[in-house]
Order: sequence, then structure tokens, then C-alpha cells
Amino acid sequence: MNPRDERRTAQALASEIKDLARKHSGQMRFMEVCGTHTMAIHAAGLKSLFPESVKLVSGPGCPVCVTEKRFIDHAILLAAKYDACVTTFGDLVRVPGSSGSLTTFRSEGGTVRVVYSPLDAVEVAVAQSPRPTVFLGVGFETTIPTVAATLKAALARGVENFYVLPAFKTIHPPLRILAAKDDLHGFLLPGHVSAIIGSDCFSYLVDDFHKPGVIGGFEPLDILLALRDLVSMTVRGTSAIVNDYKRVVRADGNRAARDILYDVFEPADASWRGLGVIPGSGLAFKGPYTRFDAAAHFPVNVPESKDDPRCLCAAILTGSKTPDRCGLFGKECTPEDPVGPCMVSSEGTCAAYYKYGAV
Ligand code: SF4
Repeated sequence: MNPRDERRTAQALASEIKDLARKHSGQMRFMEVCGTHTMAIHAAGLKSLFPESVKLVSGPGCPVCVTEKRFIDHAILLAAKYDACVTTFGDLVRVPGSSGSLTTFRSEGGTVRVVYSPLDAVEVAVAQSPRPTVFLGVGFETTIPTVAATLKAALARGVENFYVLPAFKTIHPPLRILAAKDDLHGFLLPGHVSAIIGSDCFSYLVDDFHKPGVIGGFEPLDILLALRDLVSMTVRGTSAIVNDYKRVVRADGNRAARDILYDVFEPADASWRGLGVIPGSGLAFKGPYTRFDAAAHFPVNVPESKDDPRCLCAAILTGSKTPDRCGLFGKECTPEDPVGPCMVSSEGTCAAYYKYGAV
């Protein structure tokens, strides 16, 4: 589509949303579950196209944001005690722990390497051998199959000093909790995660909670189309799972990727920033892959951590608040000097508000 047609289509969708919204009394609040959607919505200035009665709030789909401070503490304590090399994706190194971030730890003599894939982390382990190398396992169903495939390769290759500290998360358990909230009327469902888990598996939103869910892509038109469908179902008082991202997401997702994931991992409880411990919402190693479990191999006492009570990340990740309600926003908390993870992550809501303005 050329840019002129794209603009026209966007305007047509925006007016459809406004016309539909006029037929509804009261506010409609929808959650964009995925951090990539948050960034895309702000980057394109889409919120300015919605009527006052249509509100979009962020959800728990930014993996760095939902990872608790205690996990950062755990990584640092483990690395310090066992002289381990920490490998991680970039955003995590700046997330504040109880006494500094991984960047602080590195400046004090710790070894922290930023990698671009789990396979890179294995190569770091080979180069560091026999020194233990610990990859920080943060992510959702989108990235976990790649980690699982990497562990299979590392096992076959006999890499003995490679470990993973797990903080993996799966999307359905928190979504069930959020779907029960009366002030959320529907969900813009995550496109990337859905490519793995499919669209059919979200049927509980309709069956158990009578709420609509639309799987959307990440281009401005994708998002407007998804919003149009959410508003339309809400106005009509109907609910369904609609897949508006069929060019990427199939009804049954990517079975091969899920098979690899569940060869290596099994469901386990996980602790989420903003939501606490949710049964079965994480993943633990199973079978021969338990040998990669850094938490089991390198025991360390990790005290409970406390978040800065002024930071609203927990409320932002559950759609209860927006960053402009935080007194630290843009003052004591900036991307250069973040107080909470929502200001660090490239998918964080506070980072999106800061970069593009609160529209
Ligand atoms: S602006 Fe900073 S302190 Fe406030 S909620 Fe966001 S990350 Fe937390």
C-alpha cells in the first residue's frame, strides 16, 4: 500500500472507531498486552486518533518489566559468589536491583556480557570454559523455544559450563487474572507470542469472561484494525477471539516450536512484578536439561527485595495506572537514570511515554 492509501485507510478506521464509540455509553478500556504494541502505539501517535471514551492501557507483556528486582539480585549474588560470567540481552543490564544494576556490578569488577541470542551465550561459555557462564532466562513463549533449542544444542555438544537462571513466563495465567477485572473490556492480544501459541487457545477469554480479544500486528493499520474490532464487539455487546494478524498467526500456532519448548521445560510457578506468584505461569527445566539450571547448581541466599514505593511499575503492568501518574516520571526517573524497569526496557510503557510523549 502506498503512503497516501495508508493514510486514507488509517483515517477511515479512526472515523469508524469514533462512530462506533458514539453508540456506546461509558468508557471502553482495552489492554494492549504486549510491550511491542505499547511502543508501536506511541511511536505512531495512535492514541490521539481515539475518542475520549476509548482508553488503551498497558499489560504484563514486557518481559524485562515483569521480571522482579529479586531476580537481578539473584544474578549478581550468584555471579559474585561463584565467579560466574553473566550473559544477557541488553535491556536487563540497566534494570535496578537492590544494590545496583548488572551495569553497576560490572563496573565493580563483575563479568557481564551482552549477547544477541542464546547461541551467542553458549559461545561465550565455550570461550570462558571452565568458568561457569550463566545466561539470564527472561522472556515469553516467543523467545523460549530458541532458548530450548540452544539447550538441546549445548547438551549435544557437551558444553559443561553453560547454565541458565530461569525467569521465563507464559502469557495465559496472568491474562486470566486480568480478564477478571471489571474495568477491562477487551484485549489487544500479543502478535509475536500468538505466532507460537496460536489464536484458538485464547477462547477462555470469551467462554469464562465474556470479553473480546483481537490478535493484531504491529503496523499502525494493524493496530487500528484490531482496535476497530474490539470497539465494534464491545458496542454490540458480543465477544469473540478475532485474528487480525493472519499473515503471521495461525489458529494452532507453531506446533514445532511448542514441542521443542515442552521437551526442555515444564510449567512451574513464577513471580511477576505487579501480580506476585502465579501458579503455573513460569517454566522449569525437566529431564536431562535440569543440568543447566543455574539456581539449582549454584545455591545462594537471596533476601527479599523491596521496590521503591514511589515507582508505579506494578500498577502500570496491570493496567491500573499510567506513567503520567508517577511523581518520578521524567524527573528522578529517566531512561538515562531509571528507577523502575518500565523506564529501562525498549518495550516499557514509561520509556514509551518518555520517548514519544503521553498522548
Ligand atoms: S516513571 Fe520510573 S519510577 Fe515511575 S513508574 Fe515508571 S519506571 Fe517506575
